Formats: sequence, structure tokens, C-alpha cells
Amino acid sequence: MVRPTVPGADRLIGIRRPILTHGFVALVDYMGDDAAIVQAARVSYGRGTKSVHDDRGLIRYLLRHRHTTPFEMVELKFLVRLPIFVARQWIRHRSASVNEYSARYSIVPDEYEVPPPEEVRHQSMRNRQGRDEPLPGPVVERFRADLEQVAKDAYAAYTRALDAGVARETARLVLPVAYYTQWYWKIDLWNLFHFLSLRLDPHAQEEIRLYAAEVARIGAVVCPIAFEAFDEFVLGGLSLTQREQAALRRLLAGATPEVACREAGLPLQRADGRPRTTGEGVEFLEKLARLRSAADARATADDPA
Ligand SMILES: Cc1cc2nc3c(=O)[nH]c(=O)nc-3n(C[C@H](O)[C@H](O)[C@H](O)COP(=O)(O)OP(=O)(O)OC[C@H]3O[C@@H](n4cnc5c(N)ncnc54)[C@H](O)[C@@H]3O)c2cc1C
Repeated sequence: MVRPTVPGADRLIGIRRPILTHGFVALVDYMGDDAAIVQAARVSYGRGTKSVHDDRGLIRYLLRHRHTTPFEMVELKFLVRLPIFVARQWIRHRSASVNEYSARYSIVPDEYEVPPPEEVRHQSMRNRQGRDEPLPGPVVERFRADLEQVAKDAYAAYTRALDAGVARETARLVLPVAYYTQWYWKIDLWNLFHFLSLRLDPHAQEEIRLYAAEVARIGAVVCPIAFEAFDEFVLGGLSLTQREQAALRRLLAGATPEVACREAGLPLQRADGRPRTTGEGVEFLEKLARLRSAADARATADDPA
């Protein structure tokens, strides 16, 4: 039996695709492809289904119906270089296997992340974990200069400590989270989809989204059909809560969004009458906006004039 390979993926192996200032993602190895998902699924459904579904149809069916284990038959291994503040978010995904560069054993290179000016933005008023509006130029430049200075001072202290004989595992304590680390990261396709659904989401921090996007681009070369289905059903899908369904029924019956939300128990105003900027009602309106923009995009595509 010959090991299944994907020529496009083979060509990617070892290619470091740059992210941020000093980071990269590289595919190290992979096991399986779209055919491996199909093969695993056919064990459970038997040969009888073969005439009903083609491979693409079967993969799309599996994803829609959350028959997840066939996707676990595919494994991807990456080498990733990333700032420690991104690594702290990434490592929360426990379903991967990780082996990280040891700063107890090796000397940390003098490489740290300074965000480009356009990424140093105001604290978001809506999302307490996010950034939003641009800041005045002098504030941005001051922050970036401070970060450069902190990193330089920290690395000087690190080097001083190493020169004085302090153990590497202790000396590293002076380095900020802007410094880079590196790891091997191996994950099966189902858990990769879970990682991507969380880390490609606009609520995730921009820096980890850049990495997630690159991982997704590489994954799509290994399993193009599975990624097409993931794009359509997971990333492009929309779930509605019970109250949202109730509001949608009222909308379809002709109510305005404000009335539909109020009647369905999705408040858009605070007790003092001020408009809400977060919460279930606001999220429902965001979903409606998403639906409308998708419909507008379709209408434009249908009528290029
Ligand atoms: C936008 C965003 C903001 C976040 N903010 C914060 C924050 O402020 N503070 C913070 O601490 N974290 C934060 N996180 C991390 C988040 O809470 C999760 O820890 C992280 O996204 C990993 O998700 P996961 O556990 O589903 O993934 P994985 O660890 O990959 O697990 C995959 C799935 O396996 C199952 N699983 C794995 N291990 C266990 C277990 N031990 N017990 C039960 N089920 C398990 C679960 O079903 C889980 O969904 C944030 C994440 C995102 C995306």
C-alpha cells in the first residue's frame, strides 16, 4: 500500500510563511487527506452509501451533522515561531500536542514584537478585550518607543545575568511577553477546525488571527474539500438562539427590529433608556446585519450591472 500524499502539501513542507515581525508558520508533516476522511467514514456507513454520496457530498454531510471522528483521522504538524503573548492564547487549546523551545536549555534570541502603528489603537468601548479606534500619532509613537526601550533594557538585563552565571531558567524572567518563542504543534483536523473557529473569529486578538489564517491556508492545501465545507458550514454558518428565532418570526410577520427584539425578550435599551452596546439583542442585530450584507452581496453578484 502506498502512503497517500498531496503534492501541493508536499511542496509546502518546511516553507516558513512569515507572520508578524519575526514569526512564521511552516508545515512540518501531515498524515491523511480528504480521502482519509472518506475512507474512515465508509467504515461506519459501509459500501452501500457509496452510490448515494460522492466524496465531497460525504464530507459535507459529515461536517453538517457533526460526525466528527473521520476528521480526526487527518493530522497536521506545524513549526511555529510566535510572540509569547500569542503563545499564551494558543496554548489554551489542549487538544493539540506541543513541544516548545526551552528557555531553560537555550538562550532566547533578541527578537521581540513591536506592533505596526496602525495596530496600536484605542481600547474598545464595546469589547473589553479588544481594540478599536485609531489613536493620535504621538500616543502611538510613544507606546512603540517605550516598548522598544523596555525590550532593549530587558535584553541587556538578560545578557548581564547570563554573563554573571545566572541560570538560563532564571535569567529569562526579565524578558517581556513581546519576546518570541517557538514550538512544534500537532493537531488533528477536527480539533484544528475548533481552534480555527475560535481564533479566526473577529473577537480573537488580531495577532493570533494572522497565525490562524496562515494555518488555515496550509490546512486547505492538505484537505481542500474538508476546508471548503468548514468555511461554508462552520465559519459561514449562523446559529440562532430560541429568543432570536422568536424575534425572527416577528420580523417575518412585519415587526420592526426594535419591536421584534423587545417582544422576544432581547432588550436593546438599558433600564435608564440608554441604548445597549452589548448583549443578546445587539448580537441579534449583528446577525441580521450579517444576513443582510450576505443577501446584498448575492444580489450584486446576480446583477453585475
Ligand atoms: C476570544 C477569546 C477570548 C478568550 N478570553 C479568555 C480569558 O479572558 N481568560 C481565559 O482564561 N481564557 C480565555 N480564552 C480561552 C478560552 O476560554 C479557551 O480556553 C480556549 O479558547 C480553548 O478552547 P477549548 O477549551 O474549547 O479548546 P481545547 O482545549 O482545544 O479543547 C477542545 C474541546 O475539548 C474539550 N476539552 C478539552 N479539555 C477538556 C477538559 N479538561 N475538560 C472538559 N472538556 C475538555 C472541550 O469540549 C473543548 O471545547 C479566550 C478564548 C477566545 C477565543
